[in-house]
Formats: sequence, C-alpha cells, structure tokens
Amino acid sequence: IGDSQIGGFAFYDQDINVHIAEKLFFESAIRKALLAEEFFLQYQPKIDIRTKRLVSVEALLRWNHPERGLIPPAGFIGVAEESGLIQQVDSWVLDAACKQAKQWQWQGVPMFKVAINLSAKDFTEALPAKIDAALKKHQISAQWLELEITESMLMQNVENVISIMKQVVGLGVSLALDDFGTGYSSLSYLKRFPISSLKIDRSFVQGIPDDSNDCAIARAIIMMAHQLKLKVVAEGVETQEQLDFLQNAGCNEIQGYLFSRPVEATEIPNLLNKPFFA
Ligand code: C2E
Ligand code: CA
Ligand code: CA
Ligand code: CA
Repeated sequence: IGDSQIGGFAFYDQDINVHIAEKLFFESAIRKALLAEEFFLQYQPKIDIRTKRLVSVEALLRWNHPERGLIPPAGFIGVAEESGLIQQVDSWVLDAACKQAKQWQWQGVPMFKVAINLSAKDFTEALPAKIDAALKKHQISAQWLELEITESMLMQNVENVISIMKQVVGLGVSLALDDFGTGYSSLSYLKRFPISSLKIDRSFVQGIPDDSNDCAIARAIIMMAHQLKLKVVAEGVETQEQLDFLQNAGCNEIQGYLFSRPVEATEIPNLLNKPFFA
C-alpha cells in the first residue's frame, strides 16, 4: 500500500507540474492571441420552431494558434477564467460580435439576435457600462444583443449578480440561462433573474427520445419555463426524432448540428429566410 501511495503521489505531483506549465503557456499565449488577432468567432443559428427560420445566432469563440492549430474553447476558457484573463477575452468577443452585427446590417440583411457567452467572472459592476459602450461604438441597438450565462456562475453573490443583470436588461439587452439543469441553482432564483429564456442543456437533449428520464426532464423544463413566461431553446439537437419530440413538447427554438454547425459569419446571410425543415 505504501509503495503505491508513494507512486500515486509522485505521479500526482508530476501531473500538477504539467498542469502549471500548461497554464503558464496558455496565459502568455492568450495575451499574445488577443494582440495578434488569433481569435475569431463562428456563429451557430437558432431556429424558431414555428417559423422554421433563423431567429438568432450564438457566437462561439475559436482560437487559431500559430503552432497548435485550432484550439476549442473547452481547452482554454478554464485557464482564462483562472488567470483573470477571461474579462479581456470576453470583451474581445463582445466587440467582435457587435462589429459583425454591424457588418450584417450594412449588407442590408434583416437583423436577428446575436448571443455571446459570458463567464461568472464577467459579472462585475463594470459590465453594464462595457456593454453599453460596445453597443454605442458599433451603433447596434441593444435588442439585437443577448447574453448567455450558465447557471453555475449565478450561485456566488446572487444579490449582486441580480443587480448587474437588471442593469444590463435595463439597457435593452436580453439574458438567457445557459446549460439549464446542469448547475446547482435553486429554482427559487429563476423567478428573480430578469431572464427571457432558458437553454436546455445538450446532456438532456442527447437522451431524447430513448431515455424516458431525459424526456421527462425536457418536458418539465419546457412546461415550467412557459409558466414563468420564459422562452425555451434546446441545444445540441442532432436528430429528427429529437426535433419531433421537442416540437411536440412546445419548445420554442432549436440549435444543433441537425440544422447547422457553427459557421463563418459570411455564411449567415445565406441561411436567412430559408425554412430549415419541412
Ligand atoms: P455552450 O455555450 O453550451 O455552447 C454550445 C457548444 O455545443 C458549442 O461548443 C457548440 O459548437 C456545441 N454544439 C452545438 N450544437 C451541437 C450539436 O448538435 N452536437 C454537439 N455535439 N455539439 C453541439 P464549443 O463552441 O466548443 O463551445 C464550448 C463551450 O465553450 C460553450 O458551451 C461555452 O460554454 C464556452 N464558450 C464558447 N465561446 C465562449 C466565449 O466567447 N466566452 C466564454 N466565456 N465561453 C465561451
Ligand atoms: Ca452558450
Ligand atoms: Ca449551452
Ligand atoms: Ca452545454
């Protein structure tokens, strides 16, 4: 037992060193990436289940690293959060998304909402002014911006978060609760958050229609959200069966590979005004 414990400890110790080295690498690489324009956004359509058309897009961050190639957000958002760089990263995203929205407007396409993802660490007193400034800089009406926030972030400093949320909503920006059902937030907060929609997490959508528990959870989320006058978006929809179930259950919007993967900004105008399903 002693040996394996020592071995286990030695391995664990080494693992931490690797982790620290990786973290340091990423920290300086993220700083460089912000300056060198290595980040870019892709956009994934959200389809209105009733009109069958694109109603909004979610901006998803991509990192094209000169040596490591394309790094998905799961590979660096965590480090950015831990090292305090996430605010700079997400400010970059906010600016880039507003700039892109303006570009679409210039092209004369009918506008749609653009959603960006925010982390817990973005919810500081400075956020409302930051958002207001970005909207003004790019002359984007607040109604076209949506913020997706995961429920796990909302548990610390709830009162403070609610106050910041209210200021943001006061600007005319809408809020969506992301990955709903996966965090620990109490349902009692749901009615206090000034949100307009819930996103059912992909982990529940995946089990539809075979897993009866996932089906029950999805149905319950939709019913509860509607009672609270919230819109429901299902993420990670990949199959026709999932679409059928969600449509039947009264879900409002669908996002997932069934309709479109995240795509380059230039592809979005081609996806407007086209029915996504029969
Ligand atoms: P999320 O907000 O839950 O975003 C949805 C993720 O699911 C995206 O992964 C998207 O590409 C993927 N996805 C969409 N439809 C499907 C589907 O049908 N099947 C499957 N298997 N996957 C699907 P991505 O782009 O890798 O982003 C992962 C996470 O990284 C996001 O999860 C979000 O939490 C975070 N993230 C992305 N961009 C940003 C950002 O700008 N700022 C912050 N703070 N976080 C971000
Ligand atoms: Ca999201
Ligand atoms: Ca999500
Ligand atoms: Ca998710």
